[in-house]
Amino acid sequence: MNGTMRYAGAAVLVGIAALALQRPLRSETAVQYRFSFPEPQHHWMAVEATFTELAAGPLELRMSRSSPGRYSLHDFAKNVYDVDAIGPDGRPLRLTRPDPHGWTVPEHASRLTLRYKVFGDRVDGTYLAVDPTHAHMNMPASVMWARGLDDRPLHLTFVPPSGTNWKVASQLYATERPLEFTAPNLQYLMDSPTEFGPGVIREFSVDGHTFRFALHHTGTATEVDQYVADVQKIVRAEREVYGEYPPYEPGHYTFIADYLPYASSDGMEHRNSTIITSAGAIRSNRTGLLDTVAHEFFHNWNVERIRPRALEPFDLERANMSGELWLAEGFTQYYGPLSMSRAGVVDLRETTDSFNELVTAVLLSPGRVVRSAEEMSRMAPFVDGGRPIDRTNWSNSYISYYPYGGAIALALDLTLRERFHGRLTLDDYMRMMWRVHGKPAAPRPGYVAHPYTIEDAELRLAEVTGDPTFAGQFFARYIRGRQAPDFAALLAPAGLLLQRQNPGRAWWGGTRLETRNGVVLADTPRATSPAYKAGLDAGDEIRSIDGTKVAFPDDVASIVRKHKPGEVIAVEYVDRTGTAKTVTLTLEEDPAVGIVAVESTGASLTAAQAAFRAAWIGRRG
Ligand SMILES: [Zn+2]
Repeated sequence: MNGTMRYAGAAVLVGIAALALQRPLRSETAVQYRFSFPEPQHHWMAVEATFTELAAGPLELRMSRSSPGRYSLHDFAKNVYDVDAIGPDGRPLRLTRPDPHGWTVPEHASRLTLRYKVFGDRVDGTYLAVDPTHAHMNMPASVMWARGLDDRPLHLTFVPPSGTNWKVASQLYATERPLEFTAPNLQYLMDSPTEFGPGVIREFSVDGHTFRFALHHTGTATEVDQYVADVQKIVRAEREVYGEYPPYEPGHYTFIADYLPYASSDGMEHRNSTIITSAGAIRSNRTGLLDTVAHEFFHNWNVERIRPRALEPFDLERANMSGELWLAEGFTQYYGPLSMSRAGVVDLRETTDSFNELVTAVLLSPGRVVRSAEEMSRMAPFVDGGRPIDRTNWSNSYISYYPYGGAIALALDLTLRERFHGRLTLDDYMRMMWRVHGKPAAPRPGYVAHPYTIEDAELRLAEVTGDPTFAGQFFARYIRGRQAPDFAALLAPAGLLLQRQNPGRAWWGGTRLETRNGVVLADTPRATSPAYKAGLDAGDEIRSIDGTKVAFPDDVASIVRKHKPGEVIAVEYVDRTGTAKTVTLTLEEDPAVGIVAVESTGASLTAAQAAFRAAWIGRRG
């Protein structure tokens, strides 16, 4: 929206000031949306949108192609149908289709009503789901918007199916009417997932901030109470990293959780809320669900406000690529389990297992030698919810920026603690990022004033350590470069050992095997494995190993296990052309590693190790 249109809208208001006294001035140009659900059992929603004060010229109505926090394309127009634009006289207007993602109204008056239906049946952090139990709305999948009106406020009315008593849980701004809400601009609306259903809402406050946990599930009220008590511990523990909560614009932060048998597992961060979905229940999967809570809540600082410049503002019409997801997602992946440990909701073993997942991804995945953490981050548009139908070699060329970045965070935290004798930690770095990039307020709600680049992230490390050389080397080696930190050395001061999980056990490749006509390699073996080096690849059918016939997938493991690392075995196989071949390969030691506490190996934890560990992952408060 340009300045001329804004002025025109205000001028009209002067004429009807007597009528508008009750409302803020801007609301006369607000885009009005009305959501109703005539047949929830058939999973569609009816949307009516009213645009006013339109300038002459084509009105370009768009369905988003992407969704804030998700980096691949989802092309939400695919589920939209029965689209009509109606003029003030009630007559339908001509619509054109300039591309698959939009409808254009070439000629219209200053007021226009849009009607359409949209289908949705996936409960997660990206899509729309409508059924008789609720409407679970991610806005990019639900709302058609008009180009050029980004700064107009929006007014939303939710109409429950008849006979239901549905309530709204959302980061949208409340009004005096319980089913009507507003958003200050389009960016904010698109970032505001909304659960419209019969769920329960628990509220608690910390430091004068209000937190709401809205839960749609099949469990008991006691389960909810105990669970929300743990959520509160995590919310407190994460505050300690930054020293304060952000100001939550609508007056509260809202967790929207759907733990339902028909939900997909997901977690999606937003500025003042998060959506957390799972087919698991509190009683069967408490730790896993809390882990998602800890991850997503940490995002209300890291990514929602400490935000990569490449993601600000989020472009709804294309895939959004950022080389900083190792920090935005990876550091969050580290702080989730760390905060759970500090909150006292998990034990040491659960924490070290979480850290081991990070370390293992970096140490064992061959992808590190072909792409840096920065380059892995730029793969997000392909891997984050994307579904190629062709084969990729990602198992050997890609490592998720979640564990990769998490391992970098672990390494940086331990490095700082050791180097500065506990006086400086990763928490100080995150606080520095918060002060410079997250905290400064933007004039428009939902936008970020000082998003960061990778150069900024390095500069902040130089500032917090007072050592630009150290910061430069760390980024050159582990973020722009492809080196792996020395995790064993870094973990030692905490009394943690990084050691082989299966010492002395022979290993040939570790790829998945399937039974087809014979025993077939289902995937390409790991590029660092004996099988790969010997030339075996996906589709090869194993006939015999070391002279022993192979009839079932388990046969392979049991034959290999009879050997020692360093021994040479012959593998007879048939390739995809039907040609029989024999290769020899040299077995290696199983590379799987695990992090274990020294005291669990019979050795004793020193006082210095105990102090280091307590300051790092020890329970707070
Ligand atoms: Zn995340």
